Amino acid sequence: MNFLEEKILSAGYVKQGNILKIDNFLNHQIDVNIMRQIAHELKRRFCDVEISKILTIEASGIAIATMLGNLYDVPVVFAKKGETANCTDDKYVSQAYSFTHKCMNNVFVSKPYLSASDRVLIVDDFLADGQAAHSLIDIVRQAGAAVVGIGIAVEKGQQNGGRLLREEGYRLESIAIIEEMDWETQTIRFRR
Ligand code: 5GP
Repeated sequence: MNFLEEKILSAGYVKQGNILKIDNFLNHQIDVNIMRQIAHELKRRFCDVEISKILTIEASGIAIATMLGNLYDVPVVFAKKGETANCTDDKYVSQAYSFTHKCMNNVFVSKPYLSASDRVLIVDDFLADGQAAHSLIDIVRQAGAAVVGIGIAVEKGQQNGGRLLREEGYRLESIAIIEEMDWETQTIRFRR
């Protein structure tokens, strides 16, 4: 088991509705040491990739992305969520359905922060159905930039996002991949 899988087992719990709660080290309180290890592990996995920018989505992706941006010494951009981004020509706008909040979000990035010459590493805390990742890919595509990889802390392998992204040919690296989890027995099994 790697450090993140061990941390999930010791500090996380499963909520009804297929939700893994890791508020105590990632989604509410942030364990800086774990964030540092996640960043180092993602950098190791993408060591052969040239990166000019890291892109994530608010809120919980920001901590990981910032740690990683520090290691690469490249800017970190976080896409914002909101309803105000319709009909604007100074923003790249996409949509993503939120698995946790059960609603559609506009996702946007101001145009000056992504350009066609950028080589973008997309980073997020969770990958479930891939809605957030696909909205970020769409934004990178609108900017004419390249997605050079997708780095995820926790992939929920029982949902379809990871399979879709790999089939689409993206280089996807997830540090912990959950194969199955059960809220009644509080068991979590990782992909080997
Ligand atoms: P997706 O867009 O891939 O369907 O879902 C990814 C997003 O939903 C992540 O950014 C994360 O905020 C949230 N998410 C999905 N599943 C979980 C979960 O089990 N636990 C937590 N804490 N967040 C999740």
